[in-house]
Amino acid sequence: KDFRNNVKPNWCPGCGDFSVQAAIQKAAANVGLEPEEVAIITGIGCSGRLSGYVNSYGVHSIHGRSLPLAQGVKMANKDLTVIASGGDGDGFAIGMGHTIHALRRNMDMTYIVMDNQIYGLTKGQTSPSSAKGFVTKSTPKGNIEQNVAPLELAISSGATFVAQSFSSDIKELTNIIEEAINHKGFSFVNVFSPCVTYNKVNTYDWFKENLIKLADIEDYDASNKSQAMQTVLEKESMLTGIIYQDKETPSYESQIEQFDEQPLVKKSLKLEKNQFEDLVSQFK
Ligand code: SF4
Repeated sequence: KDFRNNVKPNWCPGCGDFSVQAAIQKAAANVGLEPEEVAIITGIGCSGRLSGYVNSYGVHSIHGRSLPLAQGVKMANKDLTVIASGGDGDGFAIGMGHTIHALRRNMDMTYIVMDNQIYGLTKGQTSPSSAKGFVTKSTPKGNIEQNVAPLELAISSGATFVAQSFSSDIKELTNIIEEAINHKGFSFVNVFSPCVTYNKVNTYDWFKENLIKLADIEDYDASNKSQAMQTVLEKESMLTGIIYQDKETPSYESQIEQFDEQPLVKKSLKLEKNQFEDLVSQFK
């Protein structure tokens, strides 16, 4: 169960993405998966390189489109554990439409956003999760837009598993990814993953000072949606832990009869004569 390969990541030294990669590899091994049972589909951005750094099936897809591709992979082969991943720009800007629909659709897969509140690959522009007032080359007088709030967005879009973590807390992050993989539905995990090269505001020290562990909040019940939303609003999305989990809502594919059978990729493409005639008659 070794999810390591011999490709050396070309992330900057100290980038938060290293720990996210390690947590995914550890979590997949801990839940008993084999490399050939996992597919990692990534978008574009520094974090998008992840699919090439893990010993599993992997597709480094196109900008903002990791989710449609990942959902297609799951539809074609339900036996695979599918993990989609990308950055905040990938998932909350160009890919935002796909993110919202995947959240409400509830296919059984995991989506990990490596949220560094900046565009790293293109050398440091303001991203959808950058805070108001954030100064970069693209907003030299400070960002005048309100930032996206990933946890509020996920809960209000109908997600059945919503969690947040910090790349530096590898123990918590690994546990959360294990829970996300085991959840029977769409699991959304937002991970604060500092960009040490271009984001000099949201640093490791800044997160350590500002993050609040859900485990420290007394009587928190992750199955209570209104408590989850209320807590997220009060704490301004700076929480880490499993924020919300709904174990009752069925996954998308569990409601489709044909999904009980063998995966589509294992079905024969050969048609019997009467099946062929039926098919042709539909086009007459
Ligand atoms: Fe990581 Fe930022 Fe370097 Fe990209 S530019 S690899 S996000 S530290």
